[in-house]
Amino acid sequence: MNERMQRILADLKARQEAGEHMACPRCGCDTMKPEIYTNALSRQADIMVCDDCGMSEAKLAFMGNPMPLTQWACFKPRRPDGDFKAVTGEEAWAEIQETQLDYLKDVFTAWISGDTQDDFAEKRIDVKEHCKGLKEIWEQPFMVTYAVRDGELVLRFRMNNGEVEVAHDVTGKQEDEA
Ligand SMILES: [Zn+2]
Repeated sequence: MNERMQRILADLKARQEAGEHMACPRCGCDTMKPEIYTNALSRQADIMVCDDCGMSEAKLAFMGNPMPLTQWACFKPRRPDGDFKAVTGEEAWAEIQETQLDYLKDVFTAWISGDTQDDFAEKRIDVKEHCKGLKEIWEQPFMVTYAVRDGELVLRFRMNNGEVEVAHDVTGKQEDEA
């Protein structure tokens, strides 16, 4: 279990212990009974899940095929509100420079220097949680994409004499021939 998952679980556990009513961490449904400790203790993590999930875990364990923790609802990326689909690539680029570019440059710098302990799959989730509208992030070469009104905005990162350079490009939508 990686650091992000440990952090999320510890937070959920503390909230459960405080008696907070929440969605089931495993399936994400509003299926938890009000008395937290009358629900099921997960076999996979030290946390309470709903009765259906408790039974599902037992069945899958019996078949030797547990569902990976990474598929639990509570570990899915929580995307920021909003996107850039209503604005042009150039308008999106202007906003991204103000709001996301410093963060993305830091991610890129840490990534290529090997400073980070995270694997890229984990980094990808972090980045998607931080950056409104970001559609995908690639490691090699390092680039990110956004869906915009006139197609797709692509940002490419590279290091040049210790400075992070970012090239931006809007690739147009294919017009339908019909
Ligand atoms: Zn559940």
